[in-house]
Amino acid sequence: MSLRAALLARIGETGPMSVADYMAECLTHPTLGYYTTRDPLGVAGDFTTAPEISQMFGELVGLALAQCWLDQGAPVPFTLAELGPGRGTLMADILRATKGVPGFHAGLRLHLVEASEPLRAKQRAALAGHDITHHAGADTLPDAPLFLVANEFFDALPVRQFVRAGSGWRERLVGAEGGALAFGLGGPVAPPALAERDEVAEGKLVETCPVCPAIMAGIEARIATHGGAALIVDYGDWRSLGDTLQALRAHAAEDPLANPGEADLTAHVDFAALVRAAPRLAPSRLTPQGVFLERLGITQRAQTLATRLSGDALEAHIAAHRRLTHEREMGTLFKVLALVPEGAPMLPGLEP
Ligand code: SAH
Repeated sequence: MSLRAALLARIGETGPMSVADYMAECLTHPTLGYYTTRDPLGVAGDFTTAPEISQMFGELVGLALAQCWLDQGAPVPFTLAELGPGRGTLMADILRATKGVPGFHAGLRLHLVEASEPLRAKQRAALAGHDITHHAGADTLPDAPLFLVANEFFDALPVRQFVRAGSGWRERLVGAEGGALAFGLGGPVAPPALAERDEVAEGKLVETCPVCPAIMAGIEARIATHGGAALIVDYGDWRSLGDTLQALRAHAAEDPLANPGEADLTAHVDFAALVRAAPRLAPSRLTPQGVFLERLGITQRAQTLATRLSGDALEAHIAAHRRLTHEREMGTLFKVLALVPEGAPMLPGLEP
């Protein structure tokens, strides 16, 4: 059975579903989900990400995390964790770049949160020689100092969508129309998560991520108790406004209802909601990726790497540097947020 047929059957039985339920089914359905059945990354896949574009991204992120670990007194043992590690490229670059940091490798315990079996296999291969513990969710990470990175993870988590209607809201739902999936609106509701969004005008749409607060709370508990830091990189902004549900297939945007389970579905990350869910931690300013990487010295690193390159490889390297940092590429759309214990020094490249 196709996922479309399964979804239409479910809607026939129980009525329209939330956008969050639709996203969850499309991305992580046990046998027909997008992530459960494939590796979607790379040129032959549907999208690419900063660590896949250049090793410089992971190297700089790794050094920033290691500096933060040193600033907190180099606690050992500690958890080095990643949420949604994709092909394992970011973690491999982090580990290579931090080899020379005394005590870091000896003290770290590697924990990866990954829903996809095909991607778990790729991560084991990319990180061969390291002991890895895989988790289905962040709630089972060890009770220990936690240094955590998440690149393009939160955008894959399901969002609900609500449209302002009078003093309340109506939820955008996925239903069926003439045998096809179609958007519609549910009856009046008053979700507590939107209690403070009085400013949203009639007819405007906002998104909430129901699972984000629980994930952040588990991370916060470990960092507040044992020390550590969370470094989150994703597209989005301080506050959600507007419909950002997007489907990507073969590097092109398409209708999110067109090919359930066959396209990547994402929504912009509401960073304010992540900060709200971690009240005992001190957040950095939300910083554009390009600014963060420039402050960490990406241009110097790019120049060093360039001395070993020529021809097409050099062209590709220059293009990758631009793609990560330029304001018209990923430099401004992607944002960086770090969370550290109250009173701890902020990560390099970010301001408290
Ligand atoms: N961080 C990687 C991959 C980003 S793609 C990179 O930057 O290249 C999103 C990743 O999150 C994939 O590894 C996907 O399998 C994982 N993922 C998506 N939804 C998840 C969920 N609900 N729980 C755990 N992992 C999930």
